[in-house]
Amino acid sequence: MHELSIIANLYDIMEEKAREQGAQKITLVKLQVGILSGVVPSFLETAFDIFKKDTMASDATLEIEKVLLKIRCESCGAEKTYDELIYICTECGSAQIKILDGTELILEKMDLLL
Ligand SMILES: [Zn+2]
Repeated sequence: MHELSIIANLYDIMEEKAREQGAQKITLVKLQVGILSGVVPSFLETAFDIFKKDTMASDATLEIEKVLLKIRCESCGAEKTYDELIYICTECGSAQIKILDGTELILEKMDLLL
């Protein structure tokens, strides 16, 4: 599962940060997942639950914030958000669009028990 390797990589980073701060446990993990990130949030939750056993994050809650697709049209200047992939500007039909947001997978926040 693609999501499991993502979680494994993410966990390495989280654990390093948690140890730097002398934490005992990771209690909350908040991720921002763009709709174009290629990651399925429900798979990510499942992967997290599988992975977290016997780690510092064993009791951690995972929160996922979905980030919508945001584009700017280079032709008409419209800036809009969508909850699905679009290829042309819905205002003027131009294909000259630039993706501003929606491709990210970001660790937004992590709570620690010191
Ligand atoms: Zn346009």
